[in-house]
Amino acid sequence: MGFIEADIAVVHGRVVENFRIPFGEDLYFKVVLVPGFSDGHAHPQVVDGGLRPGVLWRDSYDWIENRDLAVDEVMVRRDLNLASKLALLTFYRALLEGTTLISLTGRLAANVKAWISMTPRPKAVMLPTVMDREGWTVEEVKRDYQRVSMMVGDGLARLGVFVHSIRLAGRNTIGEALRLASQRGGLIGLHMGEGRSEAEDFKEVFGEPPYPSRIVPVHCIDDDTTTIGLQCVSCPLTNILLYGRTRTSLAGVGNFGSDWPLLLGTVSRHLPIIARRFKEPPDSIMRIATIGGYRIYDIPPDGDIVGYDVSLQKILEGKAKPKFVSVKWETAVYEGTLTNNNLTLEDVEKTITETIKEATEKYGKGDKPYIPKLPSHP
Ligand SMILES: [Zn+2]
Repeated sequence: MGFIEADIAVVHGRVVENFRIPFGEDLYFKVVLVPGFSDGHAHPQVVDGGLRPGVLWRDSYDWIENRDLAVDEVMVRRDLNLASKLALLTFYRALLEGTTLISLTGRLAANVKAWISMTPRPKAVMLPTVMDREGWTVEEVKRDYQRVSMMVGDGLARLGVFVHSIRLAGRNTIGEALRLASQRGGLIGLHMGEGRSEAEDFKEVFGEPPYPSRIVPVHCIDDDTTTIGLQCVSCPLTNILLYGRTRTSLAGVGNFGSDWPLLLGTVSRHLPIIARRFKEPPDSIMRIATIGGYRIYDIPPDGDIVGYDVSLQKILEGKAKPKFVSVKWETAVYEGTLTNNNLTLEDVEKTITETIKEATEKYGKGDKPYIPKLPSHP
């Protein structure tokens, strides 16, 4: 028995000095995060954002109709091996970037297959996407649920359904999604206010609080979700890339999401952009970026610790890779490498690039997807 000790710790968003906590061995860090980062919205099968340099969209509906995808996303999701490899790389990257909780949309069977294949693994929220389009129907999600329902039972994951958006899922679909979510774990996510206000549409569909499920709206560029009694997951980086703008304040923001973790890294990489945009004190940003996701999804943060040998300033600048990560007291990253396979972040990023290339070759239209520059480590 030993202790984890640190000069500075961010404990549930509060900065404290001379931190010490019992652990299986003696470890010392300059900074520890308790818990680590939480990434409240991530599409692990997105290998192409349909972006073009200099092109912006009015709102999410404009983007989804008019984006220029170089890779067929339905085929990527259908390819269970490829889709689960992409999910696995997302989990690896998350841990190596200090993200101890991640909420995934996309293909449920692929995400669960990847998640159970690794130990230790990050805590996870699995919200498979439904909308009225082939590849995303409630029936398809139900089939995936039948395949995986016995697999997720160790308390490290929560399940539910992600309604793509109010306009891309009819009333029947949303009703079915609510029923499915209440049978499978009670969580509902949805894209909302992504370029246009949807609070009134939301009230028409979901009524007034209390809601039958825990609902987590995502993006909320144009809505203050406190008016519907909810906290939002904001994805500032993709909002800026897609629409040239994001929310102007953190009021009602409970957590941040990376949206496209394979293209943009997980939330810890986005901190400098978040700090520049919102101009809030570091402890508010760190609270939302760490314990925020645990609170919004109601996941216990016990045993999730991230250790760094650099200053808190460097972490806020997005220029820090953790030396150590534990999830539920189990060491997942040691000396900057994954404990179960010795991979470093550089190794994983190389494999991500290769796998995106593989997906593009297999399911592409011939042209290369435009990938924006990743917020970089030194
Ligand atoms: Zn999304």
